[in-house]
Amino acid sequence: MPGTLAGAPENVVRAALGMLGQGEARSLDTVRLERVGGGCVNPAARMITDSGRTYFLKWNDAPPAGLFHREASSLRALTDRDGVRAPRVLGVGENWLLLEFIEFGKPTDASWERLALGLARLHEPGPETFGWEEDNFIGPLPQENEPDGNWVHFWRRRRIHPQLRRAVDAGRMAAGEAKLVEAALDRMDELLAPKGPEPSLLHGDLWAGNVIVDRRGDPVLVDPAVYRGDRAVDLAMARLFGGFPDAFFAHYEETFPLPTGPAHLRCSLYQLYPLLVHVNLFGRGYVGDTLRRAREVGEA
Ligand code: ADP
Repeated sequence: MPGTLAGAPENVVRAALGMLGQGEARSLDTVRLERVGGGCVNPAARMITDSGRTYFLKWNDAPPAGLFHREASSLRALTDRDGVRAPRVLGVGENWLLLEFIEFGKPTDASWERLALGLARLHEPGPETFGWEEDNFIGPLPQENEPDGNWVHFWRRRRIHPQLRRAVDAGRMAAGEAKLVEAALDRMDELLAPKGPEPSLLHGDLWAGNVIVDRRGDPVLVDPAVYRGDRAVDLAMARLFGGFPDAFFAHYEETFPLPTGPAHLRCSLYQLYPLLVHVNLFGRGYVGDTLRRAREVGEA
């Protein structure tokens, strides 16, 4: 027995199995787990039951309260929409999440085109306001989503300020460095003029590791941190660490053009948030990039 659970706690595997219907393995003796890598935060495994079906199980011994429940509701928000596929949530507990397993395929040009079209559909603005019905997480860090009719206000209060405060309080950024970020925020109204964005449902953490491609070549979004915001935020995140081909951005732009205006500066403005999150998760190594973006926006 020891070893077959790939390090997953027995009670987690038992709870996950309990979510599955009759005919699935109900015993720890017949279930097999194989570790999968790639996650930034939580260990994960492919769980194979004695019916031969496979599931994706991830867990954490001491997650921030509500982490997996919020991830489950983020995933459901995506699966409820006709946009890009996301894994179905099969069960969730305080320290585990059980999902439909996505068998990996090879991305083709068509995969990126489908991702662009699907994301554009997901981004179709609705009547709701900026923010989300509950707070959630960006990686392991809290993400505030208090609804707000004013996007500039929301971005400042709910996105940049909490991360900036955390970075300064932990001594990862100096007060003078934080001022440069503030100066960039002061330009926001002007950068988004003449017509501010409309609220779109966002994936919220769209780096290349959170896009997988299934056996049919269809893109699948994982690990979301959803809320309603300017859709340019998802595209700025996609540009930040690479991995998305130019054709993806071109297809998106063809399908649902971004408003005209200083696209490059808006992108830098929106990259401040994931960069500050990286400062808080991984340290001062990301301060340089953060300040470069802040100066670019603040001094343009
Ligand atoms: P973390 O919460 O640690 O960031 P992720 O949700 O990003 O973990 O998952 C880690 C990796 O596992 C992903 O990068 C992806 O490669 C893979 N993965 C995520 N969800 C599934 C799934 N439903 N089926 C198969 N593989 C998945």
